[in-house]
Amino acid sequence: MHTLFISDLHLHESRPQVTRAFFHFLYTQAIHAEALYILGDFFDAWIGDDDDSELLQDVANGLHKLSELGVAIYFMHGNRDFLLGEAYASKAGMTLIPDGIIIDLYGTPTLLMHGDSLCTDDIEYQQFRAMVRSPQWQQQILAQPLAARRVLAAQMREKSQSMNSLKAEDILDVSPDEVIAQMEAAGVTRMIHGHTHRPARHQLVIAGKPAERIVLGDWHDSGWCIKADQTDIELIDWKI
Ligand code: MN
Repeated sequence: MHTLFISDLHLHESRPQVTRAFFHFLYTQAIHAEALYILGDFFDAWIGDDDDSELLQDVANGLHKLSELGVAIYFMHGNRDFLLGEAYASKAGMTLIPDGIIIDLYGTPTLLMHGDSLCTDDIEYQQFRAMVRSPQWQQQILAQPLAARRVLAAQMREKSQSMNSLKAEDILDVSPDEVIAQMEAAGVTRMIHGHTHRPARHQLVIAGKPAERIVLGDWHDSGWCIKADQTDIELIDWKI
């Protein structure tokens, strides 16, 4: 048995090759896993669970089918799809999990994050994050008609080039001090996250013990996942 982790697919109508690669991954890889963790920015944008676009329906149907086959699917919000709610999650057969959850991964306590909260050097972004994660801001947005939210989403995408870029150099990397602080606070020696589009395995020392931070890649020319089982953990990529 094994468990898979993915993040940062940025699924969107404008990137059909990534959608195809995702469905291929679903039916050739994920189908054999006992659990699939989606660690945020699965969708490039989210304007509400009532969005009736074909892409979102297809993805929900595919994931739901997988869950019916016995794969446990967990979803963590990213900075793009943080408005995804219980209604869509249940339609897709997935369970929402909080950023910063610690799971027992075959005997190793593992801290899971999207990763944007680790980018504490980006003050402007952290202020924006605090605003858009507030219940008041979210209620205000979701109370607007779907058409108005579509316009708003398009405006937000135009507004800040760096907030919309998928290029790693336009996304600030994590703060190394924050990584250590979070891992120490969680009492773990392994962390998995995405967001930065800088896939890598980083060896660290946490509270005097060898530790590791594994970073998932974004799906663009390649697909990325982490595969963990009783004996091993691998960061895997393939051409799409
Ligand atoms: Mn992100």
